[in-house]
Amino acid sequence: MVSRVIPVDPFDLVIFGGTGDLAQRKILPALFRRHCAGQLTGAERIIGAARTDLSNAEYRTIVAEAVRVNAGAKACSGGALAAFLERISYVALDALGEAGWQELSRQLRPAGEAPVRMFYFSVGPGLFGPLAEKLHSHGLANADTRIVVEKPFGRDLVSARELNRTLASHFDEGQIYRIDHYLGKETVQNLMAVRFGNMLFEPLWNSQYVDHIQITVAETVGVEGREEYYERAGAMRDMMQNHLMQLLCLIAMEPPAKFDPDAVRDEKLKVIRALDPVEPHHIVRGQYQARLDPSDPHPSYRGLVCNPRSSTESYVALKAHISNWRWAGTPFYLRTGKRLVNRSSVINVMFKDAPHSIFGAEAGRHANHLKIRLQPNEGITLSVTIKEPGQGGMRLVDVPLDMSFAEALGPEGGDPPDAYERLIMDVVRGNQTLFMRGDEVEAAWAWTDPLIAGWKSRGDVPKPYESGSTGPGDADLLMRRDGREWRGINP
Ligand code: NAP
Repeated sequence: MVSRVIPVDPFDLVIFGGTGDLAQRKILPALFRRHCAGQLTGAERIIGAARTDLSNAEYRTIVAEAVRVNAGAKACSGGALAAFLERISYVALDALGEAGWQELSRQLRPAGEAPVRMFYFSVGPGLFGPLAEKLHSHGLANADTRIVVEKPFGRDLVSARELNRTLASHFDEGQIYRIDHYLGKETVQNLMAVRFGNMLFEPLWNSQYVDHIQITVAETVGVEGREEYYERAGAMRDMMQNHLMQLLCLIAMEPPAKFDPDAVRDEKLKVIRALDPVEPHHIVRGQYQARLDPSDPHPSYRGLVCNPRSSTESYVALKAHISNWRWAGTPFYLRTGKRLVNRSSVINVMFKDAPHSIFGAEAGRHANHLKIRLQPNEGITLSVTIKEPGQGGMRLVDVPLDMSFAEALGPEGGDPPDAYERLIMDVVRGNQTLFMRGDEVEAAWAWTDPLIAGWKSRGDVPKPYESGSTGPGDADLLMRRDGREWRGINP
């Protein structure tokens, strides 16, 4: 089963911030891999734009190095890079001034030659508004233009609304692609395929059969290189409000009538709006400490950000409730943190015990458990209860029905496109299904803001946890108080 690559319409793509970290690590390598996959037909142009004065040749050298370092094993060889670089040019331009805009206008082709025109805002969020205004005032945007906006989309409801208003004064909602790269991950899309493509799960997917759901996004990295931003954001704004919230929506939403952008996003929005406020004692914030092991050179969070009194959380865990017909009474436990023992994104759907055991007390208590691994080793494990072999009587044991997507699809399943490849090609195709709509983002902030305001007003200080651990002990208590335990972070 070889995945079919459908060439896209020729496009002009301008990457504002074309020399930045994101462009070099993600956007340009993703475009190169699509080029290698044969998805770019030959007439595409990619224009890097930033303030630094660079010739086309100098920029191509930067792009070649970015591709060499970051395109990974998926990169193709031979003349592919040279052909890719022919598509690349550069314009020195200031988002806040007049320099460079005429040159950019000169480089862009009319719609007849490049039917799709896209502007990728890979710059700090303070430049999103000015860029939108400049595109408008220089007449570079038309009704078919698409803009791609990176996170963070605001830092609270007020700023997100303001940003939505600014963008909306120049672009229709249908032209705005707010990226959450989690939605571009193959396994995240598989959540929808598993739920809505099988009869097996959906009938059980409600509070009658599901005891609780856990969503864990654990990282081993700290906040190196992002200290200034992170110190103002914290885990709640950086991860919970967007990535974990999106996973929660996909797990909890009602089946959309069809897989189209507004149908899917309408259902996600309903989930966010049905979230109850979180009780203060149902939130645990943590901050990592240096490891006790003196051979580990990584500093504590506070040491890294040079703020011995920092109260920014590098970890957050919470218990959420969705007040709707399907989920009333089923808690959702969400947690994310930096410098944890493992890098692991996993969703655990914990089913209820069978209502009655015919095997008596000696069989023990058993419940099915569906584990959806987003990374690493994407796949699904369903734990099933069977008889323990060779034992007298009827003792039961849980065994995994395990499916790794890589193994199940085999080498012919191909190397699936990474999140940025998928999402950028969706922008070219004009498909907004995997992008956040403005009202979704605002609803997520409307839920998040009071939680942050609450711990600020209480003067709450994050609990310390050791780097390389599973997080603060209070997060385990959050579960244990309910007679439950976290799954999926230990090796
Ligand atoms: P970065 O490395 O600091 O790059 C910023 C880029 O913007 C540079 O190319 C810079 O080049 C350009 N720039 C700055 N001021 C400009 C101006 N006035 N006019 C035109 N260009 C200007 O930032 P980044 O890490 O790539 O992040 C870019 C955006 O993506 C941010 O919103 C960030 O939050 C978001 N993001 C980043 C990552 C990541 O992994 N890096 C992940 C998710 C989201 P000059 O200095 O030459 O102008």
